Amino acid sequence: MKVNDTNDPGCRRKSMINLAGFLARSSANGPGIRSVVWVQGCPIHCEGCFNPQFLPFSLAHQVTPSELAEIICVQEGIDGVTFSGGEPFTQADALGELGEMLQHRGLSIVTFTGFSPEYVLGSTRPAWQRLLAITDLLIAGPYIPSLKCDTPWIGSSNQRIIPLTDAISLPAPCSPAPGHVTEFTIHADGTLTATGFPDGRFIKALAHRCRGV
Ligand code: SF4
Repeated sequence: MKVNDTNDPGCRRKSMINLAGFLARSSANGPGIRSVVWVQGCPIHCEGCFNPQFLPFSLAHQVTPSELAEIICVQEGIDGVTFSGGEPFTQADALGELGEMLQHRGLSIVTFTGFSPEYVLGSTRPAWQRLLAITDLLIAGPYIPSLKCDTPWIGSSNQRIIPLTDAISLPAPCSPAPGHVTEFTIHADGTLTATGFPDGRFIKALAHRCRGV
């Protein structure tokens, strides 16, 4: 797969996180209860991407790693944080810095990437190494619609779940799989976030109803 693997889209300061979305608590984005950080921008452009609004390398919300760490560290009862996107490895330095702060607070890190595991784990880029160093569980590989599957936390069967430390317990291979989870969060301002692996037709129908069309 040929991809533009630029590590700096040039639209943000490297020390800042270009934040596309944040959810304080989720049980659909990795094992346990996790805060979720979605970054803006992905060069991979998989057909059928679940988050097409996060693909452009446009400016979203600029936050420093320490500002985001402060918000995450006051969340009660979370097991850790998930980095998703967009493509987290295009903001590897800033996410690595954030992950270092969170790990000091005892939180585990799940990092999603659309790059292949071989490509990411074989990289010698210092920023990528920094992000890998604080990642406990790597979920890697592009989404391929023809390989769509029902395995928890992945969208297609080519994607791989790779523990890089023993900080996160995974369900035993023989235990009943929970399958895909779709989670809805109603925020204080009345907006609704659908996350996990929502069915596209259902989301379209829901959006239609919410607009009263
Ligand atoms: S890697 Fe993820 S965010 Fe990027 S295009 Fe593929 S599914 Fe979408």
